[in-house]
Amino acid sequence: MKHIFWIIAGVVIVLSVVNFGFTFVQVREEKATLSNDLGYRTRLLADSLKESIEPAYSAGSAETLQRTVGRFTDNERLRGLVVVDPRGEIIAVSENLPASIRGNTLAANVMDADSSRGEFVRSSDGSFYVFAVPLHEEQRVVGALLLVQNADFINTYITRIWLDNLTRLAVQILFFSIVIAAIVRWVIVKPLSRLAESVRRTRAGSGTVGVVTEHSFFFQPLASEIAKLSKSLSQARSAASEEARMRLEKLDTPWTAERLKEFVKAHLRNRPIVLVSNREPYVHEKVGNETKWSVPASGMVTALEPVMEACGGLWVAHGSGNADREVADAQGKVQVPPEEPRYTLKRVWLTQKDVQGFYVGFSNEALWPLSHMAHTRPVFRKNDWMAYRRVNGKFAETILAEIKDLQNPIILVQDYHFALLPRMLKNARPDASVGFFWHIPWASAELFSICPWRKELLEGILGADLIGFHTQQHCNNFLETVGKEVEALIDLEQFSITRDEHTSYVRAFPISIAFTNGAPALGGTEEKATPPDKNAFKNLGIETEYIGLGVDRLDYTKGILERFKAIEFFLDANPQYRSKFTFLQISSPSREGSKKYRDYADECAAEAGRINKKFEDGNWRPIHFEKKHFSHEELHPLYAAADLCLVTSLHDGMNLVAKEFVAARSKEDGTLILSQFTGAARDLKGALIVNPYSAEEVAEAISKALAMSPAEVHRRMKVMRNAVRDSNVYRWSAEFLKTVANLA
Ligand code: UDP
Repeated sequence: MKHIFWIIAGVVIVLSVVNFGFTFVQVREEKATLSNDLGYRTRLLADSLKESIEPAYSAGSAETLQRTVGRFTDNERLRGLVVVDPRGEIIAVSENLPASIRGNTLAANVMDADSSRGEFVRSSDGSFYVFAVPLHEEQRVVGALLLVQNADFINTYITRIWLDNLTRLAVQILFFSIVIAAIVRWVIVKPLSRLAESVRRTRAGSGTVGVVTEHSFFFQPLASEIAKLSKSLSQARSAASEEARMRLEKLDTPWTAERLKEFVKAHLRNRPIVLVSNREPYVHEKVGNETKWSVPASGMVTALEPVMEACGGLWVAHGSGNADREVADAQGKVQVPPEEPRYTLKRVWLTQKDVQGFYVGFSNEALWPLSHMAHTRPVFRKNDWMAYRRVNGKFAETILAEIKDLQNPIILVQDYHFALLPRMLKNARPDASVGFFWHIPWASAELFSICPWRKELLEGILGADLIGFHTQQHCNNFLETVGKEVEALIDLEQFSITRDEHTSYVRAFPISIAFTNGAPALGGTEEKATPPDKNAFKNLGIETEYIGLGVDRLDYTKGILERFKAIEFFLDANPQYRSKFTFLQISSPSREGSKKYRDYADECAAEAGRINKKFEDGNWRPIHFEKKHFSHEELHPLYAAADLCLVTSLHDGMNLVAKEFVAARSKEDGTLILSQFTGAARDLKGALIVNPYSAEEVAEAISKALAMSPAEVHRRMKVMRNAVRDSNVYRWSAEFLKTVANLA
């Protein structure tokens, strides 16, 4: 629409300039013709009047002269006559001649020069053409006769020309706009968007190009080239699919999006997949007048988005963006990823009260601290619990409506926000396979026992056929909790819990990221390896020799304050690194509805400020605290170029940042310092494992990392990259999906 407007605006400007140009020339010519014509006619009239006036003038009778003058003024154009003597004194004048024109100086000039002349005069009474002829008596100039003609008709005529031409211009603009809008829309925009849609469908593997271009001969050459391209693409796709099928058999090759797709086809045999989470994978927000989308900072989203891209299906989540409704259809559905849709996102709308009780209250102020051993007390409020139950119920209703026509769907319920959902879904749809994944730690039976609604939560979770955790330790803790809190048959060999004739299996599936180390990523393209480039840091004002990096949501479990303390220790113990080492902490604001989180953000900023004040030297300060969300595209060059990455979570289910750092190191360099209390510490054996509560230990790890030999750095990174590649998110999904599908 904007483009059409600009094209029309361009045409309007051109038309206006041309029209004004032509009108200007026409007006000039018409004005000259009319003026010459008036001058000519006046001269003829003056000559004939002169012959009548001169005898009366010679007779010296002012009365006769006045009568004669009066006789000739009854004319539509001729406004009046004036007869003056050689001194310029008026002898006779027409009655109606405006006073402003009577004393014209032209008479004196004409008498001096003894030749007639005319000029246009504009006065408050209008426009006039004044023509003067000298009067003679025996060859002597004895006076002058002035003829005053009305010249207003020239201006009236010129104004009409302008008005006529402007009206014509307006009509032309209207017609041109309609025709241009129609041509652009029907001849260019429509065929182009049909072409783009067919290219998109071809890329997504669900259409051909030739069909849609049949009405658009304009783009035929382009369309036929695209059709050829599409053919090559589908051939390449079948080859990739074939290769992936073959790779399915060879377990030592890395998991890729294609392999996962083939795996899903082979094992799930078109069973529909529905994924449920609180956080949506794409948030639409209004920024000024524009609607923009972003991927939120969430390990769960990072891990599951590629899976849905590979397998398709339906993702049900809370629509939290302020422009979410605007882009979704009447059912709250939108195709995503926005640039290349591969699956459907169904948004569930929650009230502010729901969000406050369900999300801020029970999920984040009760369950989150209950599950993380970070020494923050959970807050249990009855109202929050009610909201939690209500929202779980609302999601259950939505999902049940969506799957009412689907046979044996696989429902993957994500995270601690939906502990009650598995039971609600399983009770209503026993044919569905329900998998539940708890993305955060399961602390211990003792810690869990302080929750007033522990039994309801456990009963809800036990509705799932498969319950997943990141680590075996979390599985053990869960089994122990169930044994302590509810009556159930626990089979420690099978790792299963049977209650009311339903069995739930409990398994560890360490989640990961979409890293294939060069193998084709989604859509068959090669994964890009960004070469390390410290300019990424320069743009943030960091130019020191050594750079450390931290990337987290601003959450007290991430140990950001402890990390800063360790940097203080490091610089105290190793003054040689002052002005040479900078630590960049990227902190994506999180859960800002909760006071605890707002206070934590302030504390982090204050602590960074305190340490910076202590060590700052000239332009150098040790900690750059960036309180801002960075996209994955922005994070990648930072991961790739930092000398070390610090992950000091006090307790963390997995921690994907650690794996993202490893994946970005295509040169197999860089050191990861990793908290022993993360799930990732079990997978990333090449990291320097630390206790985040010990600032001395972390500081020592920093100095060890900076002094480590390149060979050692390389060896450690290689081990970690292989681990992340071998156990990437495609494998995680394949194993989870296979397990849940095989249980039914
Ligand atoms: N993240 C991001 N932008 C930021 C900070 C973090 O996209 O500014 C992403 C980060 O890349 C990672 C996720 O948020 O994919 C955090 O996942 P992690 O498992 O480390 O922690 P969680 O947030 O799930 O507790």
